[in-house]
Amino acid sequence: QCYIEQMISLNSTYHAYITQCEELALEMAKKSDYRRKQKKCGILEGIPLAIKDVFCTKGVRTTFASKMMENFVPQYSSTVTERLEECGGIFLGKTNLDEFCMGSMNTYTFIDPVANPWDISCVSGGSSGGSAAAIAAGMALGAVGSDTGGSIRQPASFCGVVGVRPTYGRVSRYGMGAFASSFDQAGPIARTVEDAGYIFQAICGYDPKDSTSRHIPCPDIFSVMNQSVKNMRVGIPIEFYEASYSEDVRRYWDQSRDILKNAGCQIKMVSLPYVSFALPCYYLIVCAEAASNLARYDGVKYGVRQFGETLEEMYVNTRSVGFGAEVKRRILIGTYILSHGNYDAYYGKALRIRQLIQEDFSKVFQDVDVLLMPTTPTAAFSTSQAPKDPVNIYLNDILTVPINVGGICGISVPFCLSSQGLPLGIQILAPAFEDGRLFQFGKVLE
Ligand code: GLN
Repeated sequence: QCYIEQMISLNSTYHAYITQCEELALEMAKKSDYRRKQKKCGILEGIPLAIKDVFCTKGVRTTFASKMMENFVPQYSSTVTERLEECGGIFLGKTNLDEFCMGSMNTYTFIDPVANPWDISCVSGGSSGGSAAAIAAGMALGAVGSDTGGSIRQPASFCGVVGVRPTYGRVSRYGMGAFASSFDQAGPIARTVEDAGYIFQAICGYDPKDSTSRHIPCPDIFSVMNQSVKNMRVGIPIEFYEASYSEDVRRYWDQSRDILKNAGCQIKMVSLPYVSFALPCYYLIVCAEAASNLARYDGVKYGVRQFGETLEEMYVNTRSVGFGAEVKRRILIGTYILSHGNYDAYYGKALRIRQLIQEDFSKVFQDVDVLLMPTTPTAAFSTSQAPKDPVNIYLNDILTVPINVGGICGISVPFCLSSQGLPLGIQILAPAFEDGRLFQFGKVLE
């Protein structure tokens, strides 16, 4: 009841939720009370959760923050939400995002943009801005988001909460709206590293319904979390360290390094020579995948339909009305780079660079156990100061996309406040399927 009231009273300020499900939440809570009486508790028993509106929830509107799907009610649930439910979680509602997860400010949504609970004139970050803001404002106790190129960690950093991007293949993508399928991965957003661990444990694991989900056993987060980090090796990527970020960022990066040093870690400077190409490589591949994935929204199978004289006119009218500007931009870029004559020069090259970046990470992880770096180049900025042109917006992702391109995993932990009093997050990056280390180091840094 307390979380429902908080959600209802604060949503008109923060716009964290697209759909509020108070009746469903109470129904789920009643069932949870019953299970508790029977002493059959799951690991998330009775925990009020916020679900990014990219996860299909049977019988509950799922919009992907797009006008295209504003009235879509799925016939089935995503594996992520099914697992959360099986573990006793209660769904408060579906949270706001950038349309089809494309964006980093949560301003590209068909409803109002999400306001940052630390300062409502600032952006929440994106695309999982609604989930991050809901946690920061006490409108849920735990949340799930998705991270294709930073969409969990970046809003978590801007809103002062914990966000985890698991290794690709750890969490099933079944029933999650597809943006760029070879990068998309669901993960937790929570107040503490431990809370994020509970959600991770609930959603992690093989799913026969997702052919890219892996059969690798999940780590026992709770035993790993309390292991000492003494004598473990921490790398600082020199390419990023030498780049000129704000004073704030450099200062807290050094502070976090000193904390790990005092905890007994060995600190090493390491080099990732190809990492500076991660951002253009990421944006080329995701646009190509988005153009392909979003072809399904044609006005025939589901969602909005705008009629036209011919079939082609119907497609054009539907897609013109249904998609927002950023989604259209990415479909155009993606279609262009996949077209005959451009494929090799752009898409093919980006795939080769992705391979080189993955090799960079593999080499570095022979020398260190984790990498340490800031989550974002700056703290949250005000909506009025937000960059206007798309390339400058994309540049904000410079510190988050490398792990997605590298196929590894990462956590963002709130670390300190900027000189303007806004939260700044620090990231730990670990090799593929070593997700346990994220929680182990996250605990030391939080
Ligand atoms: N900002 C990135 C983008 O716009 C992140 C997206 C994501 O992780 N879903 O592509």
